[in-house]
Amino acid sequence: MRHRLVLGSEEIPYLLRRSPRRRSIGLRIDPAGLTVSVPARLPQHEWERVLLKKSAWILARLDEMRSHATPPFIWQAGQMLPFLGSPIELAVEHGSTRIRPQLAEGVLRVLMPEPHDPGALGNRVLQWYRREAMAFFQHRVAVYARQLGVEVSRLCLSNARTRWGSCTSTGIIRLNWRLIKAPPPVIDYVVAHELAHRIEMNHSPAFWQTVSQLCPDYTELRAYLKTHSAHYHRF
Ligand SMILES: [Zn+2]
Repeated sequence: MRHRLVLGSEEIPYLLRRSPRRRSIGLRIDPAGLTVSVPARLPQHEWERVLLKKSAWILARLDEMRSHATPPFIWQAGQMLPFLGSPIELAVEHGSTRIRPQLAEGVLRVLMPEPHDPGALGNRVLQWYRREAMAFFQHRVAVYARQLGVEVSRLCLSNARTRWGSCTSTGIIRLNWRLIKAPPPVIDYVVAHELAHRIEMNHSPAFWQTVSQLCPDYTELRAYLKTHSAHYHRF
């Protein structure tokens, strides 16, 4: 169950676990955030009192976790980049930028002039990602549109910070290019989700029924995407 702890101007969401076997209050902080485990019948004000008492420790640990979770991303050779669910290594060689980046055996080779700045390297890699994303998504959208018997008027890539996809009533599908970092079944889930909106423009039980026909294990795939979201948004 989701709860919130208010500390001054900060609001900290936490997960509450009630357990019949617990005798004391347990606090755990991991990359997913704060989890509070309490005895089954403990009243809320009791654990809230403990959270307030430990607030300095909680805030410090959460800060530490955040700084570990997202070290600043630097475009340089040797970086491991997520692609279709596996890490690939970025290799930089001197050469003409007219030659496109090539992925072979888990290594993405990018030719760059010497010297170059990290931003220019980043732009070339992002361009490569977007091209790969478009080709992959086009194929998957075509497969699912045929299965559902729906039409897509246009497919575009989006760069949204929070959304993975969207679908308009006129059939324009937008998919976040960062999805190409995820394993293919996860991409398929998002594609199936957006295409199911061609039939149901809402998140009703009928909508989820359509999604589950295309994608029976969508619950796990959705959870996977949620837990990997910060990782996929590093660049
Ligand atoms: Zn939706």
